[in-house]
Amino acid sequence: MAATTPLYDTYLRAPLRFERGEGVWLIAEDGTRYLDFAAGVAVNSLGHAHPHLIEALKAQAEKLWHVSNLYEVPGQESLARRLTAVTFADRVFFTNSGAEALECAIKTARRYHFAKGHPERFHIITFEGAFHGRTIATIAAGGQQKYIEGFGPKAPGFYQVPFGDIAAVKNAINDETAAILIEPIQGEGGIRLASKEFLQELRGLCDEYGLLLILDEVQCGVGRTGKLFAHEWSGIKPDIMAVAKGIGGGFPLGACLATEAAAAGMVAGTHGSTYGGNPLAMAVGNAVLDVVLAEGFLQNVRDVALVFRQGLASLKDRFPDVIEEIRGDGLMLGIKAKAASADVLKAIRAEKLLAVPAGENVLRLLPPLITTAAEAREGLARLERAAETIRANSGTAAA
Ligand SMILES: *Cc1c(COP(=O)(O)O)cnc(C)c1O
Repeated sequence: MAATTPLYDTYLRAPLRFERGEGVWLIAEDGTRYLDFAAGVAVNSLGHAHPHLIEALKAQAEKLWHVSNLYEVPGQESLARRLTAVTFADRVFFTNSGAEALECAIKTARRYHFAKGHPERFHIITFEGAFHGRTIATIAAGGQQKYIEGFGPKAPGFYQVPFGDIAAVKNAINDETAAILIEPIQGEGGIRLASKEFLQELRGLCDEYGLLLILDEVQCGVGRTGKLFAHEWSGIKPDIMAVAKGIGGGFPLGACLATEAAAAGMVAGTHGSTYGGNPLAMAVGNAVLDVVLAEGFLQNVRDVALVFRQGLASLKDRFPDVIEEIRGDGLMLGIKAKAASADVLKAIRAEKLLAVPAGENVLRLLPPLITTAAEAREGLARLERAAETIRANSGTAAA
């Protein structure tokens, strides 16, 4: 451990320093090449140093960086027009991060009821295992004690029920309920999928009780599941959706999308952000959409996802002593190991493969959406070697 650092100790960092990236590869200062299936926690959707993103950012950097929201920002309008054209949404508010997108979503839902003369309806039902960010409101929404503790009173108005338990949701609804907030796939929680039926039932309850359905697609959105947004698989439409991570491809960018009706309370002066929708971010966001919305891109994500699914299933069959369960959808995958996930992460890293820890002892694989079938197979081969190491180590331990 380093003796001193002026940085906060908030992160448990791996002792790795990267100098540059190329597609799915990260190159460390000592020249070692890592296959990056962490992708900056699902942020580097187009891998590293994607030529189209570099071009967009450079071109904008030479023209204009920032003007603030005192003025019209054409990039915001074009990106919002494109996002609303391909989603349920009519309105967009741009942010710099996922937590800010969630803050906007929460405020939008509360203002909706306030504007209809029901300020008492500000309570939001959320789910156990959720993660919505690290602001004072979003830690309350996420409900995880380890993130809430020591930061003063928990922000009021968030009620948690078990993930997937429709009876518990119904029970929690009362005259003060404003909305239901859910990740279609819990990321930090351990790659836990909400079933199609569950999402459909939540939509039904929202319609029945006049609630807004808020989806947190910060991690599972923007092509990660092989559709532009994960909820499309269930056929439902939310009223409000938070997006970030993959939409910026590595540039800090988030967005809160809403229907015309849901956004009705967000009139002039109710919300703002100095940097939100800054021209640099808009240039990159538009460039990410150029690629993700191009003919065949999402089909390729689905094809490569199939290579992973089959490869991981085979790995589980051959290493039942190491792997307990394979989870996930598309390129949002989880390996629930029998060994502690910290040890698994170490074994994987020894094979120069990067992954992300998550709840329930699950290791996340979040490969860039540009990963090819050959790169997927390379990753699977590295996972297999890591599984062999873990098996050998546990064999020694048992003997
Ligand atoms: C990462 C994440 C957030 C928070 O995003 P930040 O950019 O870190 O604020 C919120 N929700 C989900 C589902 C996430 O994965």
